[in-house]
Amino acid sequence: MSFPLSSFCQATLARPVLLPGVGLHSGEPVNVRILPAPVNHGLVFLREDLPGRPRIPARTAFVTETTLSTTLGRGNATVRTVEHLLAALYALGVTNALLAVDGPEVPALDGSSMPVVRAVEAVGLALQAAPVRILRVVTPVSVVRDDKRVAVEPADAPWIRYQVDYGHPLAGPQAMRVPVERDVLVREVLDARTFCLEVEAERMRAMGLARGGSTENAVVVHDHGTSTPLRHPDEFVRHKILDLVGDLALTGCRWIGAVSATRAGHALHVALAERLEAMAADVAVVADADSAASPEAVHAP
Ligand SMILES: [Zn+2]
Repeated sequence: MSFPLSSFCQATLARPVLLPGVGLHSGEPVNVRILPAPVNHGLVFLREDLPGRPRIPARTAFVTETTLSTTLGRGNATVRTVEHLLAALYALGVTNALLAVDGPEVPALDGSSMPVVRAVEAVGLALQAAPVRILRVVTPVSVVRDDKRVAVEPADAPWIRYQVDYGHPLAGPQAMRVPVERDVLVREVLDARTFCLEVEAERMRAMGLARGGSTENAVVVHDHGTSTPLRHPDEFVRHKILDLVGDLALTGCRWIGAVSATRAGHALHVALAERLEAMAADVAVVADADSAASPEAVHAP
């Protein structure tokens, strides 16, 4: 197993973190505060601008929309574009945190997860005396819609392989396979930014979306270039892996298996997360503080 020991313990932030910004789609200023939370709390959003300060767990049961980004909702409270924040927290091993936002969307920041990574690394983690929930995939699962596919197979360690092809000279076939390990994700994946083709950007603006989009937080792919220099020649497939890590964090588990995705998006990512979560629900989950150093894996089904 390639996890460092700390990955087996639940963890929260040593101190609160504040990240101000604007919502990519709303264009409105919005802040997110990442606050320490107790053992077995999980990752939970809080709409602190709404009456009653409603809380929305970052779990698949609360996904309300998967168009362009992943939206969570409970009653009238929603939080849009949760995936980049969740990807950073999953990669860093943060299992418990209260994610307080004062608007309906997580700030876009630079369009990647790196601002969250740097902010969390600056305050550090507090390890907690309880094991994480580990979901070891023992039965292959796949979800196919048209030419899009996600699947997971048993493996000794968590992997993601992703293939995309946007049929564009600058966004043609790209493929990447990475181990889902903190250092690899931070170095290779979490700095990859949100992107879209120019035609999509125009369509989104016509729909009243992407109002906060700019060269500061997204890459627009034109016919003969990109709106801002790329951070990697294959930044697009790397961002898709980032999105998938964030969407699979909605299982509430550390998962172990070999995930592959072809031309997928948030809808398929969340569908796979639901299948994984259903596996985890079938089995008892060990949450015994004494076993923190060597927790039992949850085997599924
Ligand atoms: Zn994304």
